[in-house]
Amino acid sequence: MSQVNILVVEDEQDILDLVEYNLQQEGFHVLRATDGLAGVQLAKKERPDLVILDLMLPKMDGKEVCRSIRQDGETSTMPIMMLTARAEEIDRVIGFELGADDYLTKPFSPRELVLRVRAVLRRLKDKVASNSLIRFPGILIDPEKHRVEIDEQDVRLTATEFRLLQCLAANSGNVLTREDLLDQVWGYVYDGYARTVDTHIRRLRKKMGNQQERIDTIRGVGYRFRPELLQ
Ligand code: CA
Repeated sequence: MSQVNILVVEDEQDILDLVEYNLQQEGFHVLRATDGLAGVQLAKKERPDLVILDLMLPKMDGKEVCRSIRQDGETSTMPIMMLTARAEEIDRVIGFELGADDYLTKPFSPRELVLRVRAVLRRLKDKVASNSLIRFPGILIDPEKHRVEIDEQDVRLTATEFRLLQCLAANSGNVLTREDLLDQVWGYVYDGYARTVDTHIRRLRKKMGNQQERIDTIRGVGYRFRPELLQ
């Protein structure tokens, strides 16, 4: 990748400086916003490669910022990493409601932040590497255009949902464990992240309408994409 731009939206000056410093050390270009409104405006104007977004922000909170980025067709697939001080927010943050791609719980170490950022960016690069079309009756996945058609309708997926569907469909008929999916879709495996997979699967299924039965839950193991739908 050439110059990678990362937008950091955070009102706590110390954290903003710390994040900026550590990202710059890694060679990333950092854009800063200290309130939600400025964050949305910068995201839409500058189209960063990644947004690191605090949940509690003045003017417009992180949830609204996330929603606004997701609703705009030009920015709807932009990767978003949420920062949250409260673990109980996590399900909602990555769940149906918001569609963030990843999250970090405060306090976090700069090293962990950098690892996560690298993992998200690697996913984007991998996406370009495996760009073959995947087709099943009623489903078309076009990685090159980042497009999914379900029953002949365009369906808007986030970057993570797209990767998840692509990964499952590319391995159709085979069971993928949550660890496999974390590794292939998120680019890391940490303890306690299994439910990240589950919440994203839930959201993906919801967007798949009549095709959602293609994703089988294999209890205690993981998920499988069905090559054929049950009649
Ligand atoms: Ca804050």
